[in-house]
Formats: sequence, C-alpha cells, structure tokens
Amino acid sequence: MIKVVNFLVRSIQPYNIELSWEIEPTTDDILDYTFQVYRSEAEGGPFEAITPIFKDKYYFIDNVLPADRKWRKYFYAVEVKRPRDSKEYWTQIKHIGEPRNPYAQEISRVERAVFGAVAGVRVYVLPIKTFGMWCSCFDVVSKQRNKANCLNCYNTNFVGGFHNAVETFAQIRQFTHQDSTEEPIVRQKAGVSIVLTNYPIVKPGDLLIQPDENQRWKIASVEPTRLGGSLVHQNTVAALVDRDQVEYSIKIENFDIFRPNHPDALMHPRTAL
Ligand SMILES: [Zn+2]
Repeated sequence: MIKVVNFLVRSIQPYNIELSWEIEPTTDDILDYTFQVYRSEAEGGPFEAITPIFKDKYYFIDNVLPADRKWRKYFYAVEVKRPRDSKEYWTQIKHIGEPRNPYAQEISRVERAVFGAVAGVRVYVLPIKTFGMWCSCFDVVSKQRNKANCLNCYNTNFVGGFHNAVETFAQIRQFTHQDSTEEPIVRQKAGVSIVLTNYPIVKPGDLLIQPDENQRWKIASVEPTRLGGSLVHQNTVAALVDRDQVEYSIKIENFDIFRPNHPDALMHPRTAL
C-alpha cells in the first residue's frame, strides 16, 4: 500500500487554494491506486468529496470556494484506494505550505497578468518526479542506474519522469537569439534567467517547454522572492536542452496540460494534476 507524504496547502490567490502531496517511493504499480480529494469546514468532518476519483496525480487547485470564504476555515483530505483488494488509506492535511499574504498575492496576480499580456512567453512547466514508482533502470538496492539514457523515466529514476504540465507565462530575461544559418551552429549551454510568478512552484530539474518555439529548458536553480513569508515570484537559472539530451525526446502529447486561465478550466475548475 502506498503512503501519502508532504501533503501541503497554499493559497495562491484569494479564491485559489493549491493542494499538493507526494507518495513514498514504491515498487507497487501506481496505476493500481485511485485518489480522491475531500474538504470539510471542521477538522473532524464531515468531509465532502470535491473531485472525481483520479489516478497518478498529485496536485489539485480548489478554485470554486464559496464567496464568503473569508471567515471560514477549510480542512482537506486525500483518500487513496486500491480497488483490487479494497485497501484504503486516508490522510488529512497537517501543514500549511506558507502564510497567506494578500499583498504578495496581489503582486503575483498583476505580474501574472503582465506576463500573460505583454512581457512574457507561454511555457509548459513539467515538474520532475522526485517520488513515485521506481523505474526498472534504477537498482533500488545499490542506488545505481543501469542505463545512460532511459526513455522510460528520462533519467529521473521514476516511471514517466515528469508530472503533468501546467501552462503559465514566464519572462525570459537573457536569451541569445539564434538566427538560422546555413552552417550548423554549435549551441552554447549558457544559463538563461527565467522569471515565473508564484505559481506553479518550480524546483531544480523541472522542465520548461516553450511550445510556440519548441525550446526546452531545464531549471538549474531557483531563488524565491517572498513578502511576509508568502511567495511573490521565482527567479530561476535554466539551461537550454540540447537535441542529444534525453529530455528532448519527451513528447508533450503524452502529458495532460492544465491551463488555469483557460475557459475550460474556469468551467471545470476542480482539476487534479
Ligand atoms: Zn528509467
């Protein structure tokens, strides 16, 4: 039976609550398990299911909270089931990801609007898997990889390699534009500075794909800017992914893309990722 860990809640904007959780690395087949998110206004329940049953997703945004949410307190839980032998596991949120600061949220909201309208480019963020089902290329006992370029986990050691994508807008602050020339150009592995808002949270190893240009970057480092403990934006340094790198063979069609600002997401806002 898998175990849920690092279950966190974070307020992104006044009406957007982000939940994220992980599972302990496992040799079980994750697709044997189902998840469902519940919410209550009291720690002891009763809990109401706020998502359909889903599989292999570890991220959820609750953005259809009642309008008078301000004075209410919410408690969340995730239920994990393995239908084949009726095993169940229930875990409640115990940790707040960060304090809620309305000023930080407002700055992020404005920045997100500016990036989306004029100053940024559309990117898909693919969070690297740091938990999940071990890939067969990784020996759990010796902690060794037995393949140089694994197309099953993209060298992350976890099956699938990355979680589903989130669409957002980012600002690329240094980018050496390469005009196409007749001679093949030697690409430089120069670091590029990419700025993201407070959502989604990124970490080293995450992949950014700019779909309009088919450019890919891998995040090398992240420096968060906070206000009163609440995330405002994220300054990252990222390296361009070369054609010979394993991340270049990732097919975006194999991932669901969550578009928080898309009309579909507003009509069906309770989406687990
Ligand atoms: Zn692998």
